[in-house]
Amino acid sequence: MLRQYELVDKVLAYDPAADEALINRAYVFATKMHGNQLRHSGDPYFSHPIEVAGILTELRLDAATIITGLLHDTIEDTDVTTEEISSLFGGEIAELVDGVTKLSQLEWDSEDAKQAENFRKLLLAMSNDIRVLLVKLADRLHNMRTLHHIPKEAKRRRIAQETLDIYAPLAGRMGMHEFREELEDLSFKVINPDARSAIEVRLDDFRSESGDVIERIRTQIVGLFEGGGLDIEVHGRQKRSYSIWRKMQRRASSLEQLSDIFAFRVLVADEASCYQALGVLHRRWPSVPGRFKDYISTPKNNGYRSIHTTIVGPERKRVEIQVRTREMHNIAEHGIAAHWIYKDSGSKEPKEAYADTFGWLRQLVEMLEHGSSAEEFLEHSKLQLFSDQVFCFTPKGMLINLPRGATALDFAYAVHTEVGDSCVGCKINGRHMPLRTQLENGDEVEIVRSKAQRPLAIWENYVETGKARSAIRRALRQTQQIEFELLGRQMVQSVFEREGKEPEDSVVERALGGLGHDHLNDLFAAVGEGVHSAQEVLEQVFPEVATGRTAKKVKAKKPADKDPLNAKPLVQLRGGVRGQAIRFAKDTFPLPGDRIVGIVTPGEGVVIYPISSEMLEKFENEPQRWVDVSWDVSDEEAATFVSRLEVRASNEVGALGAIATLIADYSGNINNMILARRDMDFYDIELDIDVLDLKHANRIVNALKGLSVVNVVARV
Ligand code: MN
Repeated sequence: MLRQYELVDKVLAYDPAADEALINRAYVFATKMHGNQLRHSGDPYFSHPIEVAGILTELRLDAATIITGLLHDTIEDTDVTTEEISSLFGGEIAELVDGVTKLSQLEWDSEDAKQAENFRKLLLAMSNDIRVLLVKLADRLHNMRTLHHIPKEAKRRRIAQETLDIYAPLAGRMGMHEFREELEDLSFKVINPDARSAIEVRLDDFRSESGDVIERIRTQIVGLFEGGGLDIEVHGRQKRSYSIWRKMQRRASSLEQLSDIFAFRVLVADEASCYQALGVLHRRWPSVPGRFKDYISTPKNNGYRSIHTTIVGPERKRVEIQVRTREMHNIAEHGIAAHWIYKDSGSKEPKEAYADTFGWLRQLVEMLEHGSSAEEFLEHSKLQLFSDQVFCFTPKGMLINLPRGATALDFAYAVHTEVGDSCVGCKINGRHMPLRTQLENGDEVEIVRSKAQRPLAIWENYVETGKARSAIRRALRQTQQIEFELLGRQMVQSVFEREGKEPEDSVVERALGGLGHDHLNDLFAAVGEGVHSAQEVLEQVFPEVATGRTAKKVKAKKPADKDPLNAKPLVQLRGGVRGQAIRFAKDTFPLPGDRIVGIVTPGEGVVIYPISSEMLEKFENEPQRWVDVSWDVSDEEAATFVSRLEVRASNEVGALGAIATLIADYSGNINNMILARRDMDFYDIELDIDVLDLKHANRIVNALKGLSVVNVVARV
């Protein structure tokens, strides 16, 4: 375990300006808080955060990151709160520790490769500061180094698999190849120990047969460049067993080619020298076709740059060689950190270079905060892309990827169109929430469904995704079509019966040709939608009805002249008006018991008006559009209707409370309230109240009139 002064010395070695006292305080705090908790290894728990901090010093990270490493498990595993950390170590560190804690609460357990990619994106999206991710990777690396202490094999395997699926690729994506290789190798040991030891044994055999083959080949390559004037370094190394194994899997090959076991690197000063060195190598030894790749002119999208070639080299053995500059090499080994360190310290005096050691972090954080940068050189810029997205879970742990701003309703449609169409509510992280709630990264969303549910028109306002919107529109069109058909059929039947004609389908069908329809359903829908009137259908079938009719007679039929409750209505309103073929006129609030009339409105179906409405004047010259309507409210359904009241109340303490209490006493439910005006003496309030019918509304109105604070009250 790193001692306190050793850790501090490591940081000061690359950052003399680091806050030594704060690091010391964090070291002591972590030790104290984890107290006598133990690791599976039997070591005190605090050895773990201290080792994690040590790993982070190898990446030459700033003091805030080192301290985050020391504190990263305190919120999760001790009584410490984010607020305490904030007051002791400042807001920046508290946020970093909080970020790491959130990542640690996510657990990966799936065999689906596509889900793994989503999970990696979730981690990136949740690490809105790259340092959070670096601490998480260091945490995982130390846990993997000590994984053999965990007694349960199933748990070891699960953690190793998660490392292989999620964290190793993330390290690779950030260009941290050393991290990646170590994570892979430690996982490989747990997941496939047989394959690993088979490879290790084969490698041992190979070494004993061929002697120090690395050094022999290295010397030959160096010799090739002698006197050529190029400033080169040559390194040879044996590949890790996991990468050898993966290559064997991919090519279904056996462990025979030297090029599969050793890799050589030629490091040069600048880019032009890379191509010169390549020329020297290819002139001396033939290259293997298909194995040449130029990642200098076309870098990999994580910023990796190098030339790869395989030659039939010394001793007629195939040898893989990478040619790159020293800068490229540094970046390839240590990732984004090295990129900026190299760039910043380049030609400067050491002192200045120190001052800028964390330039890369600053730039990175700035990029993350302020959007795009001209230099989208490295894959980390993808972090920004993911900030446009949210990643949420189903209760079974499946990840659903949505654009930022998406709601629970979008989530339902993303799971499946049928789930969306039938959803009635949702639970987010176990709590009932409205379907229009915007989702956050990591939310677990459970959709509550009902077979009876159909998409509602208002849903269109609740969704962000095109998929949800078009599904809702499609479903709305379908129900609308069905409602228009039913309404049209009802209207045609009533008109026929009124003339003493049988409304049999076979009779009504005779109107099809004349009105330009092929099917009865289309004809009914057209009537319901107001394209044809029911009267037109009747006159198509029985022309004599039309000839005997006078304008005066038509006018006499205008339902406004009769009591619609006694007339045989064309349309019956069942259980309130919820459909799309029948609706109330805007800003009118008729109740069962009110006299009402319908106006056929092309494209919309039947619009219902209270008979007293002034808006009806517009339709006086179009009697064919008027239809009789009656209420049909059965007791079982207990539908409620909205009644709007205008109330003028005294501007005194408790007035609104008295009104609300009274309405509740009369079983009314206030569903909206607008304070229209307020002056010295009065409030003018608009109240929308759910009521059962006209009687119910009148009881409430009369009771309100009895309140001393109410001056005027009227239904709209
Ligand atoms: Mn940890």
